[in-house]
Amino acid sequence: MTGPLLQGTGLARAFGGVYAVDGVEVAVAPGSTLGVIGPNGAGKSTLFHLISGQLPADRGEIRLAGRRIDRLPPHARARLGIAVVFQGARVFHGMTVAENAMVGAHATTGAGFVTAALRLPRHRREEPVIAARAREAVRRVGLAEWADHPAELLPLGQQRALQLARALCSEPRLLLLDEPASGLRAAERERLAGLIEELRTEGVTIMLIDHDVGLVSRLADRVTVLELGHVIAEGSPDEVRADPRVVRAYLGTEPVRDEGAGGRDER
Ligand code: ADP
Ligand code: MG
Repeated sequence: MTGPLLQGTGLARAFGGVYAVDGVEVAVAPGSTLGVIGPNGAGKSTLFHLISGQLPADRGEIRLAGRRIDRLPPHARARLGIAVVFQGARVFHGMTVAENAMVGAHATTGAGFVTAALRLPRHRREEPVIAARAREAVRRVGLAEWADHPAELLPLGQQRALQLARALCSEPRLLLLDEPASGLRAAERERLAGLIEELRTEGVTIMLIDHDVGLVSRLADRVTVLELGHVIAEGSPDEVRADPRVVRAYLGTEPVRDEGAGGRDER
């Protein structure tokens, strides 16, 4: 494929007449990682919701591998290979960690969630394959020893890791990560960074939102900077960090510094 895997053009979305995303252009080359940074309220999460289909766009087009997807519902986009780890933990209570991860696979397998819930024959055939995939995903995010425990007992940072396992279980082409490192301790954050690098090596295309500019710079091939719903800079991590508009948007006058392991959402 020559073009971008994901391309958004002229994307806009308003809430109560105020634009959260306003004319955003975004493109992600296949197999690359795009960092998305910007101050709180810049529209980063809203952009992800437009791409995943959680929210319809007021204007603009979204293409996956050249195909228009902006009119498709979220589950149809998931079937095309888009998986999201949302900001804030959302795990299913009353299910184990491994069962939570399996929900991701049901989003994309032939059987689907309804067939799975009704335990129809097609589901029973696929079940062992999915269970194995879920355990592997749970292991990759560092939760192997939690696999058979209720998901709601996990600390919040680990609930985010479980969401990532669920996303991996769907074997995504495009993985959207909205602040996946928040609430993680330094060692867990490092493990997550290693996993994101590994996924990129395996050819997964990634969009990564994080407050930790150092982490994003390390993992991303390109960075897009949002402020008040607009793209104010786009380029390599070095180009973007040297951009005066980015420096102003973040800190007023000082250069953008790495937050590193002592970042602001470190607990
Ligand atoms: P970021 O993720 O960059 O912090 P968001 O995309 O969450 O920013 O929010 C961008 C703006 O849109 C903010 O002003 C926020 O209050 C507003 N917003 C986001 N989601 C909603 C919503 N569901 N309803 C109303 N306003 C929203
Ligand atoms: Mg956000």
